[in-house]
Amino acid sequence: MFDTAGRGDSGSGGGVRSPNMTARTKLGLQQVATSGGIDYRLAREATLAAFRNGDLSREQLCDAQRELIRNAEFCGTPASRDCPMCEQPTLVEVTYVFGPRLPKHGRCVTSDREMHRIASRKSVSTGYVVEVCPACRWNHLTESRAIGGT
Ligand SMILES: [Zn+2]
Repeated sequence: MFDTAGRGDSGSGGGVRSPNMTARTKLGLQQVATSGGIDYRLAREATLAAFRNGDLSREQLCDAQRELIRNAEFCGTPASRDCPMCEQPTLVEVTYVFGPRLPKHGRCVTSDREMHRIASRKSVSTGYVVEVCPACRWNHLTESRAIGGT
């Protein structure tokens, strides 16, 4: 459901990141956002309702690409809720930022410092939060907000 359009991570300059949880961003997008943003909770609920009604299959919903799973494992922060599909406590949130001077397929932001740096730019970037379950490959956009540009 979320396609970063990225094949490989070569452009991000990210390389292998430490999976050390303490190094990960604690900042929510809303803390650096310069706009109210869009909340995708209703769309998420509609998607889950369609699954329960049999209109969407598990295969259609649990289609996270390998790159997204990898980012979930290396850049994700644990979500405060269980996966809506497999009900495991494996759900994580990955924050992507797209904008000028960022890789075409977005940068996976992993630290508060990096988030502040992007937020202090004069150019506007857009941050997206995607929830991903590495266990069953469920993925869904949860919010998007403009950051920077002030
Ligand atoms: Zn799951």
